[in-house]
Amino acid sequence: MLRGKRVIVTGASTGIGEQMAYHLARMGSHILVTARTEAKLQNVVRRCLELGAASARFVSGTMEDTAFAQHVVREAQTSLGGLDMLILNHVGASYFGFFDGDVEHVRKLLEINFLSYVAMTTSALPMLKESEGSIVVVSSMAGKVGFPFTVPYSATKFALDGFFSSLRQEFTIQSINVSITLCILGFIDTERAVRAAAEVLRERPAPRDECALEILKGAALRRRELYYRYSSTRLPLLLRDCAAELLDYLVRSRYRLPAPPGA
Ligand code: NDP
Repeated sequence: MLRGKRVIVTGASTGIGEQMAYHLARMGSHILVTARTEAKLQNVVRRCLELGAASARFVSGTMEDTAFAQHVVREAQTSLGGLDMLILNHVGASYFGFFDGDVEHVRKLLEINFLSYVAMTTSALPMLKESEGSIVVVSSMAGKVGFPFTVPYSATKFALDGFFSSLRQEFTIQSINVSITLCILGFIDTERAVRAAAEVLRERPAPRDECALEILKGAALRRRELYYRYSSTRLPLLLRDCAAELLDYLVRSRYRLPAPPGA
């Protein structure tokens, strides 16, 4: 279903985004990848071409800058002549620990993890309307239920749910045939996530290449939400409305917490 489709993947120099680029390449898509690190993007593009991509190119820059986010979309218009799928996946660096009160960090993370997603969607919408294409938003369990130790990150992921779920409603009202797939991921074995959380999380991370493929399947099928893995995301979320405190407890019990002072 994705052969010959024109796709942007953000945050594709490493992790899940890189794996999505490789799957798309095997499927024969036209791929435009973006992130900050040019040398890594060059390698991703080379590998995509080896794997059979219809075409592969990159644009490097930071999503802290809204103008850059818009520039990436313009590049797709110029070089690909349109767009079928916009995969929003990049994520800015944050800390793993108790909220430290740094409001500026929250603001910066909102710019990278949320506002750039809004800016790219806005710029890409004319092309996506024309192709009756898809928007894929990579989010997290931390964007559906309160998670400790990732307060700024969780805030940005909850914001994505609010924006894109509301936008989906408006698309339906206006008969705009652009799908929005919100991806709710559990713990995945990317370097960043394993470095940050492997020692404190009790669960084993799921493989990033399988996760990437599940995202693309969900996107191709135009599903509204995608849960990966189902057992660690969708099933616990079923408790949210009927037993919210039990769900909070289950979330806390995923962590190896230090003993409270004096215990
Ligand atoms: P990685 O850290 O492996 O990749 C993040 C990507 O974003 C990199 O390509 C990085 O490249 C890019 N990036 C970082 N900062 C910026 C910036 N300022 N501007 C532009 N690009 C930037 O992340 P994962 O693969 O682990 O995560 C991918 C998505 O999956 C994220 O949205 C994340 O929230 C979500 N997710 C991941 C989970 C996990 O356990 N791994 C769990 C739940 C959700 P560069 O540094 O070169 O810019």
